[in-house]
Amino acid sequence: MHNASEYFNSELLAMFRRQQYKLFGHSAVKLCHWTKSALYRNKPCYKQQFYGIQSHRCLQMTPAISFCDQNCVFCWRPLTTLSKFPKQFDEPAEIIDEAIKQQRVLLSGYGEFKEKIGEKKLEEARNPNQAAISLSGEPTLYPKISGLIEEFHKRKFTTFLVSNGMHPEVLEKISLPTQLYISLESPNESVHKKINAPLLKDSWKRLNKTLGRLPLLKTRKAIRITAVKGLNMSNEGDFAALIEKAQPDFVEVKSYMFVGYSRQRLNIGNMPSHEEVRAFAEKINKHLGYHLSDESKPSRVVLLSRKKGNLKIKKD
Ligand code: SF4
Repeated sequence: MHNASEYFNSELLAMFRRQQYKLFGHSAVKLCHWTKSALYRNKPCYKQQFYGIQSHRCLQMTPAISFCDQNCVFCWRPLTTLSKFPKQFDEPAEIIDEAIKQQRVLLSGYGEFKEKIGEKKLEEARNPNQAAISLSGEPTLYPKISGLIEEFHKRKFTTFLVSNGMHPEVLEKISLPTQLYISLESPNESVHKKINAPLLKDSWKRLNKTLGRLPLLKTRKAIRITAVKGLNMSNEGDFAALIEKAQPDFVEVKSYMFVGYSRQRLNIGNMPSHEEVRAFAEKINKHLGYHLSDESKPSRVVLLSRKKGNLKIKKD
């Protein structure tokens, strides 16, 4: 396992540690707010509600902390992104071993709440079975992302992979996650340039190539739209046209959240209310014709789904 200081300077390492990231090599885990909430308050995340994953058993991780080829204005992470992935990198199995080990370290403080949480639930949390490969950075930049997904599946994890869609050639050839998310914040190229601040000249072409290839990828697919008031909550017809190209199973229209480092770039007025998110989703859906299947007010998210009925992940 490489040492994180081989990739990041001490200032960056100190900043991540201040935010309770556990870094190892070019990877990291961080206890998700909703994992804590599911453990301590029995309030899980909207993905447990929509898709049936267990928030208290979720490993929020990344094999590419700080490596990304976009600088999205709404990103809650610090935008000290490195676009080139290092030549020396860690193997999938050692990354997962270390991620689980660090997750247990992050959970160690919950032992004192055993009465409240219950031994069984605490033990389950120590043995995660869902991996959210979405913590930070662009995971498809990690050259062994396919092996990482395979290794998680071998260990009976479900996997959510969140990608910015900049690498269609990678998505086409990897072992696919249980659910693949493509982030889509722009109805057209000019908004894309403003809101995603891409580092790749042909980024819009790449994103459209990914959307066009999505119907060929045999797994559950979701388009996630982060709605930023005053920036991208319009052109609903154009959004719908891009979504139709991708034919996803799900469309999540989710409010931008005024948290983390995004507060240095945006203001609280850019965070739409749940009602505004819902109205925006309904306008997109007028063109799309999906089902408005679910919503979560605490997370300000609305779910549009291609099919009606049970949308939960079927566990092997
Ligand atoms: S699926 Fe996402 S929001 Fe839910 S617990 Fe995991 S990291 Fe958190």
